[in-house]
Amino acid sequence: MTTPGFPTLSDERAARLRGYGREDRVAAGDVLFRAGDPGYDFIYLDSAAVEIIREASGDAPAAVVTRIEPGRFVGELNLLTGQAPFLTALAGRSASTRLRPILAYSDAIRATIFTGAYPDEHGYWMEYCFRPERSPFASLERLRPLDRFPSDFARRGLKFALSKTVVRRIARRAGYEELSLRHFPFRALGSFDWTLRSAMTAPGSLGLPTLFDELTGADVPWSYLDSFKSGRRGVLRAADELPIDTRFAFVYLHPIDMASHLVGIESPLFRSVVRRTDALVAEVLRRIERRLGEHDLVLFSDHGMSSVDRSVSFPDLWVHPAFPEHFCFALDATMVRLWYHDPDPRLRAELRQRVASEAPGRFLGADELASLHLDFDGRLYGDEVYLLDPPAAIFPNFHSMLRPKAMHAYHPDEPDQHGIFVAPPEEEVGETVELVDVHSLCRRLVGVGGNERKLELASYA
Ligand SMILES: [Zn+2]
Repeated sequence: MTTPGFPTLSDERAARLRGYGREDRVAAGDVLFRAGDPGYDFIYLDSAAVEIIREASGDAPAAVVTRIEPGRFVGELNLLTGQAPFLTALAGRSASTRLRPILAYSDAIRATIFTGAYPDEHGYWMEYCFRPERSPFASLERLRPLDRFPSDFARRGLKFALSKTVVRRIARRAGYEELSLRHFPFRALGSFDWTLRSAMTAPGSLGLPTLFDELTGADVPWSYLDSFKSGRRGVLRAADELPIDTRFAFVYLHPIDMASHLVGIESPLFRSVVRRTDALVAEVLRRIERRLGEHDLVLFSDHGMSSVDRSVSFPDLWVHPAFPEHFCFALDATMVRLWYHDPDPRLRAELRQRVASEAPGRFLGADELASLHLDFDGRLYGDEVYLLDPPAAIFPNFHSMLRPKAMHAYHPDEPDQHGIFVAPPEEEVGETVELVDVHSLCRRLVGVGGNERKLELASYA
């Protein structure tokens, strides 16, 4: 018998794993780890079986959540076990595995899930892009003397305030659903544009049809619920009020992502956010079931998270005499991107050296960009990308208002970067699921082009 939900390792991988570990003998009744332990090992069950037990709480007795049979491993879901009883139980009953992200932030990950294609196919990689010919911010470049204001904190605060006021008016006039100055240098404002004018769920917003475009085309009623936009209560209310003929609902819950950036994944506060989000997922699902009846559920976190314990900054780039006339740069929390405006090999070598000496990582070569599906035709996202290695992250960067304590968007081969994926129990899942597989599973379950099943998809981060 095998336990659904916990992936089995192939013989070859199990043999490799044995080479890294040590063998422990256990007796019936031994406790391998408890909820709240500061961390425990990745455990491969050679011949033993393990029961995951939810400990008794004030209002519930102890209960066996799931049993894991020999040939499988535990420790994978250590972030969830104990903090997230609902999810742990769900993962035990269903087909659960790892989800391999792409090298991107959550917006491009969503675009990849929505289209079933990679960034260099659908064309979207970053929220903002280098597009001087139609920058909506050009008029604000006259604020460039403010770049010399000594406090970075004050500059960030000012951009935040401008984004809520002046920039909102610019957005309305120029027809953008959203615009923000983030933390772009004032002197380079005229170089950047917001990549999309409308929300990603709007018709035809990406370079390829999204799942929503397809559903609309097939007359399948769908809904998109987003806790970032409407808050926890808004999502619950929207679940209560879903149109009764809804056949596909995408639920995006942001608190775990936000909390991990703000407080780090080791903090007790983070664990309490996981617990509360776990309860929120259970409640959303209960309400959707009450409203729409039985449905298929696909649940995943779109990426993992690595702790950050080293902050790097690039003060020289912000004040470089050749910037922004001869080159431009963008700082994301895990990447430095460079645009060269003229073929000056000396400047290029100098910039490359400056970037590489400041932070551990590497410039991505053409082959690697192609294998990461980031081989873009134009210059929207940079002529060169320097990718940091965890646990270092860039701050100040163009995006974060506060110093990130944990980050994603490192290389997708980093094990900590993997998300968790839970499919309906009858699905077969391999050791790792790719983002584009999520799209094809959703299409199949919702029956675009025939089949009449309902599907609901919840994303955790
Ligand atoms: Zn994030």
